[in-house]
Amino acid sequence: MANKSKCPYCNATITRLNVEEIELERDAGGPWKGVSYACPVCRKILSVNVNPEVLKHDVALLVQGALDGSKKLK
Ligand SMILES: [Zn+2]
Repeated sequence: MANKSKCPYCNATITRLNVEEIELERDAGGPWKGVSYACPVCRKILSVNVNPEVLKHDVALLVQGALDGSKKLK
């Protein structure tokens, strides 16, 4: 099935997006590492999200820390 998604700015058919790292500034607690998703034709940002690779890494560290903590209790 052909992809019919269109960029809302330039109306190009979207079959892929450009992903770039971006810092998400917060009022407190330091910036989060994010990614922007941009149209490859007009380069306008269509969406921004937390960087999924950083999120995966941070969750793995939390789980490992919890596992290490439970081992110490035994
Ligand atoms: Zn576009």
